[in-house]
Amino acid sequence: MNICFQSSSLFSNLPLIIAGPCSAESLDQTLDTARSLKEIGINVYRAGLWKPRTFPGAFQGVGDKGLAWLKQVKEETGMMVATEVATREHTELCLANGIDVLWIGARTTTNPFAVQEIADSLKGRDDVIVFVKNPVSPDINLWIGALQRINNAGITKIGAIHRGFSSSGNHIYRNVPEWHIAIELHRRLPELPILCDPSHMGGHSDVIPTLSQQALDMGFDGLFIESHCNPSAALSDSEQQVTPLQLQEMLKSLVVRQKGQPNDVLNALRSQIDDCDNQLLEILNKRMSVSREIGCYKKGHDMQVVQTNRFDEILQNRVKQAQEMGMNGDFMKTVMSAIHQESVRQQIEIINNNDL
Ligand code: PEP
Ligand code: MN
Repeated sequence: MNICFQSSSLFSNLPLIIAGPCSAESLDQTLDTARSLKEIGINVYRAGLWKPRTFPGAFQGVGDKGLAWLKQVKEETGMMVATEVATREHTELCLANGIDVLWIGARTTTNPFAVQEIADSLKGRDDVIVFVKNPVSPDINLWIGALQRINNAGITKIGAIHRGFSSSGNHIYRNVPEWHIAIELHRRLPELPILCDPSHMGGHSDVIPTLSQQALDMGFDGLFIESHCNPSAALSDSEQQVTPLQLQEMLKSLVVRQKGQPNDVLNALRSQIDDCDNQLLEILNKRMSVSREIGCYKKGHDMQVVQTNRFDEILQNRVKQAQEMGMNGDFMKTVMSAIHQESVRQQIEIINNNDL
């Protein structure tokens, strides 16, 4: 699962900040926003031309005519320009009109046919930089597969953008961060730059500073942020856009921490963590052997493996105990559910094994 990655000058000064409006709406709005962003030191400008909207009546983007506006931004400000592509036609138009950076949106990453079509039209154009946003659902393989399709077309200046995942529940964020998926992507593809898009993740301008700081603390290589010269008048994603001035204030307040090197203090603490993990493994193993004994008993007495009342009682008690110790209840629920799942698997193995 290798990605052949070639560093671009874009990533030489981290964190990389890409900013611009959700959509290019008019020549004036596109240029005004670009000029103000250039003034605060932004060198890569984003603006959507073809917008993947949920409902057909919504503003669908200005389409092809916005290409000339982005060209003008590039000529006037010297910024690199970026836009979203979802089809072969978008990609070809961007390549023909000097768009420097393309991104594949969350809805498109979900569709391998669309990604392949974009990859095919990129063949031979290794000068272009391509970012792949995570798919709408938390499927890391779909994300990696899309990156591979682009890479297999010979594009080596690639990066990923984490913009959170759709969820049916009620969440404070528009798209749930699920940071562990981005961390896993980094573990599997350590060379690949990963940006965070706090705008689409948060859905509201108030939460962007917190999400941005969290992303930097977790080692993201930069931020992909929506900024509009007049957010309240924006034709799409009005609530989550910030003015260039607000963006400047936020960027000033962000703390950029170092990766850090291992040292004696950290090593001593990490060896305590190793000890704790070893004890955890021992105790889990002990718990599983008791569970297997219960499995034998259930088998001998023709009892069903899953006893929901008992699991419910365990779950409630452990969550409460964990909370009293200062741990997160959802975390303990996840831990106990995983343990229970393995316990059930082992008991089912016993019940179905005629040699036992
Ligand atoms: C966007 O960046 O404008 C966009 C549509 O984002 P996403 O694909 O993350 O929804
Ligand atoms: Mn948007």
